[in-house]
Amino acid sequence: MDSLYARYPFFEAAREAVAGADVSLPALVAADAPAVERGRERVERALRSGTTASETPDAYDAKAELLSYPIARILVSLLESNAAVEKYASAEAATAADRIRADLDREDTLRSTDEVSLELSDVLREFDLDDAVRPAVPAAGGGSRDGGPGPAGPRASRSARDPEWFRIDVAPYLRLSDPDWGDRWRLVNRELRDGAVRIDRADLERCLERAVRSRVLEGLPFEFAADDGIGSDLEAHVADLRRLLDERATVGGFDVVVPELFPPCMRNLIDKAEREAALSPPESLALMAFLTAIGMSPDEIVAFCADTSLDAEGIRYQTEYLRDEAGAQYPPPTCETLSAYGICHNEDDHWQVAGDPLAYYEARLADAEDVVDWRDRNDVAEAT
Ligand code: SF4
Repeated sequence: MDSLYARYPFFEAAREAVAGADVSLPALVAADAPAVERGRERVERALRSGTTASETPDAYDAKAELLSYPIARILVSLLESNAAVEKYASAEAATAADRIRADLDREDTLRSTDEVSLELSDVLREFDLDDAVRPAVPAAGGGSRDGGPGPAGPRASRSARDPEWFRIDVAPYLRLSDPDWGDRWRLVNRELRDGAVRIDRADLERCLERAVRSRVLEGLPFEFAADDGIGSDLEAHVADLRRLLDERATVGGFDVVVPELFPPCMRNLIDKAEREAALSPPESLALMAFLTAIGMSPDEIVAFCADTSLDAEGIRYQTEYLRDEAGAQYPPPTCETLSAYGICHNEDDHWQVAGDPLAYYEARLADAEDVVDWRDRNDVAEAT
């Protein structure tokens, strides 16, 4: 089994490998094969943490990892929740984007000893973008001229192997970007020439993440006949995931912002960002999830974080996947998870009273008197 397929199970060749393999998904489910448990973990991690990467990757071989993808698609369909499907697809896309970045950034010397070999040209071809995306080399003075080694061209060091600037045809640009990501993404603010938009490598990677998300969403949710055996065989897993989803739906009932009462983990993250230090992805996700869950809108979070290392565009991008029309659906990780990431230091031993940062905040709000919502403070009301 090709390790590349396990890493990128939504690739067309991976899907063909599953279709051509001598395996029956109903039989796997009936046997409760490792792919089933890994598929459940994929969905659980997507709903809890915004990633589908395993917490115990060594526990699964490439075949189980690959087959867990179609199992996860079945499971998320059985949840009968559009919000769950959307979050699952976003998590698969975010995980894939991290892997694509890591695989493309790996030096050739390391790549040659690795089982997985991925080129940017492979990814572009996968999404029919190989003709639509061309290298553009920044010229002196900040402009650009087209040319240089293309995505499919010869490879040397990373910088020479994949250029830093590209031109993407306007139609795929519009399909794979969103003006809500920030003004910078609006066409009027882009350099548009000969029907193509100039973007840097980070923006191209973001467009590719959107392409992965669309691919994952294709065909979801599946529809099952009432008497479909696979649904009943997965009933216990679906019940667990549905409980998780119900817990998610109950967050967001605070709608009061009192920074002085935030739990120490969140205050520490805010202090760190205020010192202009960069937050790691888990730190930033935990903070955004907390602020979203207590009822803050993206605009309010941008204002709240105005004097920190967190930029407005990144905040809007992250909070887009943390909210839906019903409010916050993506609470911060539990104290146990935050401890594993080194974010919680269990100050004042309050693991005794809180299992997660929201519970701690709720307890402190209940004990407090005469709190003033941050949004009602004079300087804030004028600024927002
Ligand atoms: S115990 Fe929980 S709420 Fe308290 S600092 Fe740690 S993670 Fe935050």
